[in-house]
Amino acid sequence: MYGKTGILERLQKGTVLGAEGYVFELERRGYLQAGPFVPEVVLENPEVVKALHKEFLNAGAEVMLALTYYGHREKMKVVGREDDLETLNRVAVRLAQEVAADGDALVAGNLSNAGVYDHNNPEESSKRLRAIYDEQVQWAYEEGIDFVIAETLSSLGEALIALESIKKFDLPAMITFIPFSPRKTMDGYTYEEACKILADNGAEIVGLNCGRGPDTMMPLLERIRDKVDGYIAAQPVPYRTTNEQHSFHFLQEPGHSMGFPIALDPFTHTRHEMADFAAQAKDSGVNYIGICCGAGPHHVRAMAEALGRTPPASRYSPAMDKHPMFQEGVQERIQALRARWAAEE
Ligand SMILES: [Zn+2]
Repeated sequence: MYGKTGILERLQKGTVLGAEGYVFELERRGYLQAGPFVPEVVLENPEVVKALHKEFLNAGAEVMLALTYYGHREKMKVVGREDDLETLNRVAVRLAQEVAADGDALVAGNLSNAGVYDHNNPEESSKRLRAIYDEQVQWAYEEGIDFVIAETLSSLGEALIALESIKKFDLPAMITFIPFSPRKTMDGYTYEEACKILADNGAEIVGLNCGRGPDTMMPLLERIRDKVDGYIAAQPVPYRTTNEQHSFHFLQEPGHSMGFPIALDPFTHTRHEMADFAAQAKDSGVNYIGICCGAGPHHVRAMAEALGRTPPASRYSPAMDKHPMFQEGVQERIQALRARWAAEE
């Protein structure tokens, strides 16, 4: 409807770069409350949401994700704003569209985990979840989104319900799991099996997002790549998760309180590390590469450049040869500073 190339055509031509982490970043900036993490900012400070879309667009993101993450009925109840549910969902899409129109970006609707699906009681809980997803997809569809990203899902059961809701409107579906446990979804499928089942049921893009950083997400992605013929997606968090601390929920420095969710700063990956991830993911056959909670535009630009692109923000990419410290002999300069430090102490 905008004369834009759709998500599937773009993926057919090559890698697509996404960027997420809106809720974390807007919380950090002081426009959203940690805890509920409901994106009230869409209604209260829409210009701030647009500014972050713009920063990601400028940094090379090809998809503007409407900020409806945790903007569903259950979460709106938590903050006493159920009456604003539809308005928030519609306005979020419009904000993303206004910015996407400045570049050649697509607009994705967004479904998130709703905390109502119970794989031990699928019948009753499915009904509630279906109602939540149906209304969100319908509003986003009416506002003219290009496709839907359903994410941070932990069970295949809830993912299949999201897929059904998206397909009612004939939209392309990207569905990604948050890999909470070592190998399996909460309802007992390995992530690669769950992705394959989703793909076999019509999800055009499947994969993982959130929870793990690149180092611990990559091995799972390789299994998914082996199993799934279609497009796969990876949007890790930019945090240094390890074989001991697989997910950002576990990150904790000795003597400090837990890092998740608002004290993760000491674990943040550099832009160079996220650029390495983007290159590695591309080599491993990941089609949709992005970044989740903790992302900043500097990460996204470095990832775009690692994929061989020159987004508008590359106008200001580092030129360290113009910094006095980094002109010839940087190591000698550092040594001299160290010596001076030692002499004065
Ligand atoms: Zn995330």
